[in-house]
Formats: sequence, structure tokens, C-alpha cells
Amino acid sequence: MKKPIFAYFMAATMLSASMVATSQDASAQSNYDAQFVDYPSYAGDDLEMRVDKSGTHFKLWSPKADKVNLHLYNDGRTGEAYKTIAMTFNSTDGTWSASVAEQLYGKFYTFQIEQGGKLYAETPGVWAKAVGVNGKRAAIIDFANTNPEGWTEDRGPKVDYFTDVIIYEMHHRDMSVHTNSGIANKGKFLALTEEGVRSLNGEKTGIDHLKELGITHVHILPSYDYNSVDETQLPSNVYNWGYDPMNYNTPEGSYSTNPSDPETRIREMKEMIKALHDAGIGVILDVVYNHTAENDGSNFNLTAPGYYHRHWEDGNYSDASGCNNETASDRQQMRNYIINSTKYWVNEYHIDGFRFDLMAIHDIETMNQVAAELKKIDPRIFVYGEGWTCGDSPLKVEKRALKEHVSQMSGIAVFSDDLRDAVKGHYSNAADRGFASGKPGNEETVKIGIVAATAHPQVDYSKGQNSKFPYAASPQMIVNYVSCHDDLCLTDKLRLSMPDATDAERMAVAKLAQTIVFTSQGTPFMFCGEEIFRDKKGIHNTYNQPDHVNAIDWNLKATNKDQFNYYKGLIALRKAHPAFRMPTAEMIAKHIVFDKIDSEKQPNLIAYSLVDNANGDSWKEIKVVLNGAATAQEVKIKKGDWMIVAQDGKICPEGQLGTTKGGKITVAPYSALIIARTK
Ligand code: CA
Repeated sequence: MKKPIFAYFMAATMLSASMVATSQDASAQSNYDAQFVDYPSYAGDDLEMRVDKSGTHFKLWSPKADKVNLHLYNDGRTGEAYKTIAMTFNSTDGTWSASVAEQLYGKFYTFQIEQGGKLYAETPGVWAKAVGVNGKRAAIIDFANTNPEGWTEDRGPKVDYFTDVIIYEMHHRDMSVHTNSGIANKGKFLALTEEGVRSLNGEKTGIDHLKELGITHVHILPSYDYNSVDETQLPSNVYNWGYDPMNYNTPEGSYSTNPSDPETRIREMKEMIKALHDAGIGVILDVVYNHTAENDGSNFNLTAPGYYHRHWEDGNYSDASGCNNETASDRQQMRNYIINSTKYWVNEYHIDGFRFDLMAIHDIETMNQVAAELKKIDPRIFVYGEGWTCGDSPLKVEKRALKEHVSQMSGIAVFSDDLRDAVKGHYSNAADRGFASGKPGNEETVKIGIVAATAHPQVDYSKGQNSKFPYAASPQMIVNYVSCHDDLCLTDKLRLSMPDATDAERMAVAKLAQTIVFTSQGTPFMFCGEEIFRDKKGIHNTYNQPDHVNAIDWNLKATNKDQFNYYKGLIALRKAHPAFRMPTAEMIAKHIVFDKIDSEKQPNLIAYSLVDNANGDSWKEIKVVLNGAATAQEVKIKKGDWMIVAQDGKICPEGQLGTTKGGKITVAPYSALIIARTK
């Protein structure tokens, strides 16, 4: 029986350092943890099964087990074990070993431990790299069979700085499952390998759509093997986001065309990655090492009971994830696990980056080691995460990989909830509006987003809604966004918070909101389908809603073509102009100059210049004016030969919308004005 899955949506909730500073930290790391102090750790990456010329070798880390049996099976789900082998203990590193003098390709296995007089349930272990259907048994396969043609030469895009990345967050089913998608492999990894696909009304969809839009990286929602979708019942089309991890090191079966064949999901995910790389697009995995779908029944607990999860002093699972448990990255073997697992995805699947769910459940030291180890493989690998938890944790606040601690981390970025909430209104209060939808008072917080939470002489952090100090030492530490899979999508947020407006007005607000994201310093991030004003039927947190709620209706691309073209223009503008992508805080402080605007007299108005060919830009000065008011507002522009880049909901990245000599310019309601001059 599956446990109820109730709290994935909590990922958007922020528990900041200041909010939890009075928690029971003082008692943490005490008696409960003491029982693990003498556990040896094993840093090698050859756990738990490998095949070589001499045969198949098994090694399970389980330091306190009294006995471990290895079961071998012919089938991935049914039938009895054809052989059971007692494994041998090595007390030095806490591992149990067994070898079979033949290559067991095509067979399946489980481990079963006995500890403290208790016989635990069978488990595929925590390092299964291939599994049978529904992931209860690990599979032995030859990985050479899973590589698409040209895989050895496959590489992700070269990007110098994280601020050059443009992230598109997507779920496999959202992108492809609608009848209008024109895609054959609906809801599958293979969906993004289909070229030439079109919507019913002739617009590009799938990978062609991504290329047309111009994003640099897709960030795919959890694609490891998760628990909530029964892979033997795929015709029932059950939808889930996948924040319920089971096997961290193998792809989810329901996204493959045949989950019963362990090789298929691996080969098809690689084909998707190769197709994206061939299109010049990088692939970022959403990883959820912070909790497991099951508590006692998790693979972690079935291999080393109690060790991998945190508990309170009374022995109960702590729950900083809001999903019934949390893992313990501060214990060495869990830290090793996260490091080796992410390295494995890079080496075997050519993954270009990781988005850490509820990253603050992990400790700063672990995250620093993860980033350092990944960058040894390839400095282009990006690591970012949610710098908050969803509840209190035994991990001391000062050790948490919180947003406020990002400057203690190296090579890691966090989501800016500052910009998100200030631009569109509070994430969980549907009726609340933000800067872009006419609510005054958020100007300074939007400016925090514009400077990527770095120190700037003209930004008053004391007026910040979510953060009171410049927490980012570099813009490469910040991901800016107005919406993601969590909570209401942007369209629904605007419909619920602007009930008397028309969709045309809301689309103007959406354009303004994304203009702020794409012109701000830091790394821009957008949610799939917002570029065609997709909705999710007004439902918050659609993690287990059916396809008809989550699927993107691709006919909207023709209906809302103007919206799509604007997003495409914004992305092209950002890519063409390094002024929007400054890599250091010093450059931002020097090259961004805000206009002095009295927010009492002119609320919802921000204007600033990117000056002196910022970051080597071909434009000497770029002026960005953001009017989030329901009325037109006037700004004074310095005299000069300006070209108009964006105005009244239109954008032309080459600056050919017209020209102006400066002076007084009226900016339309809910719109951005961007002008530039070369001298
Ligand atoms: Ca699964």
C-alpha cells in the first residue's frame, strides 16, 4: 500500500534562518547521533554490484548488520529467488561481499539484512543502477547496450558563467501529453527526440519549440525512479511530479516505453539527453536527496537501519521535508552517497547540472563538496537549489545550506524568492498582487532581484520583504524567477489575483514580470508553457492532478503567438547583450545606476541604466523602465540618440522598434520600456 503523498507542494515554503533560530538546535547532534559515531564509511564508487571478466561482484555497506543474504532472480518482479548467497563481512569498511563466477547479465538481485534480531525486508539496495518494473529488484545489465549512437562524443553546451544559462523547467508529461502536441511518444523521455513535430494548428512543439524559444538548458522534474506511479499500469496515465524518491541512480520507468526491460529506460533517457545536446541544449536534473518516499521501508533504512535519516532525540523521524522524513547529509556515508550519485549521473548520463530540492536540509559542507567534486569532472556543471527547508530539522541552523548562507558556498546558487514574491505577489496567497500587477510597496525588493541580491549602493535592503541583507557575494549565486512547478502557475496567479482584468491585461502583466526576470542579473528561470500563457485550471500544486490539468495545450501557441514572440525576444535580447549577464558583484555595483524615483508619488515604477558598455556590451547604455501600475507613468530620459528595444508589450532585440531623443516618455500601464544607445 502506498503512503499518502501530501506535501510536495511545501517545497515553495521558506523557513529562513531567522524564523527557526530558536528551534531545538542545542540538543541536536547528541545522543541519537552518538550511535553512528563508530560506523566506518566507504568512499569507493563500486558499491553495490559490478560485473567484470571474472564474474559479478556484490558489495553492500551495512556496518551493523548481523547477517546479509543476496538473492538472485530470473525476473524483475515475480518468482522466487533461484539462488541465495550468504555475504561475507569486512569490519574495516562495514561492507558485505559476495561474488559469482559468471556475468549475470539479465538477472536481478536483492539484499536482505538481519540486524538486532530482526529480519528486514528485501531491498535492491541504494545503488541500483538498473531495476525491474516498479524498482523492487535491481537488474544486472551491460551498460554498453544502453548507449545511443555517437554517445562517446556527446557533450552538453559550453557555457562560461552560470549567469549565461537560461533555464526552462519542464515535466515530461506537461510537455508532450496533450493531444495537440503532435508528439508520438507522449509522456516519455523519447518525446524530446522527435523532430519536426507540430501542434494541430501548425506551430512547432517539443524540441523544435525549445530551439525556437532559445533557452539554453532544460531542467527536468524528478526523473530518477520514484514511487507513486505503478509502472505495470501505464495505460491508466497516472500523473505525478515525482518528489517521492525510491531508486536515486536509475531513471523512472513510467517515462520509458517499456519499464519491464531494465535497459530501455536508460537508453531512452540517454537518447533524450543526446537529442537535447545535439540541439545545443543542456540538461539539468531535479534531485531530491533530502527525503525518501518511505520511512522504515526505504532502501536506505533497509540497508543500514536508522543511519541515513535524521531523527529527533525521541527516536522519531524528523521531517524538514514535509514528506515524513529527512536524510542526514552530515553523516559521512550519506554525504559520500550524494557526491557519488551526482557524479554517476554526470559520468553515465552526461548531465549538465543539478537542482537540489529543499537544499537547506543538506549541510553547507556537503553541498560544497558536491560542487567541488562535480566541477573537477567539468567546471560547467551547475548546482543550484532551494535555499530553505519545509520544517524544522535537528541540523543546526548555521550548518544548513540556506539561501542566507549561499556566500559560504562555492559554485552553488539559490532561488531568489525575493524577486518571485515581489513581482507577482505572495506564492501561497492567491489574491495577493505584486509589483507587476499593481501592488505598491515592493519596489525595493524587486531591486534586490535586479542586482541578484548583491551589495549595491542604491539598494536599501532594510526594505526587503524576504531578505534584509545582500546575501549573494556573486550574481552567479542567484536564480531569478516568478513561477515554477510549485504553487499557482503565472497565468493562474494572475487570473486569481486580478479577477476583474481581461486575459489581455494579464498577458501584459506576464510580459512585464518576465521582462524583470530576463533583464535582471543572476540566472533567469522560467516554467514550461508560460511562454504561451498555459494555465493549470487554477489549481495550486498539481503534483498528482491528471493530465488534463497539467498538460500544455499547444494550440495556445497560435492563439497567444504575440506572447510567445515576446518571450522569444526577451531571451534573444539577453543572449545578445552581456550587460544583463554580469558575472561579478563588483561589475553590478559599478554598472547599474538606478533613477531616483519617489515611490510615494510614483509607485510601481523602477528605472535603471546599465552604463559604460557593461560586461563588454556593444551598447554604451541600456535603460530599463518597469511600470507595474495600472496607469501610464512618465519618466525623464537623458537626451541622446536612443533606439527603442521594448515598448508597449512589443520587443525587438535589435532595437528597431523606433528611435527617441529622450526627454519625457510615457510608459504604458503594466509594461516595460527598454531603450539603448551606442554612443
Ligand atoms: Ca518508478
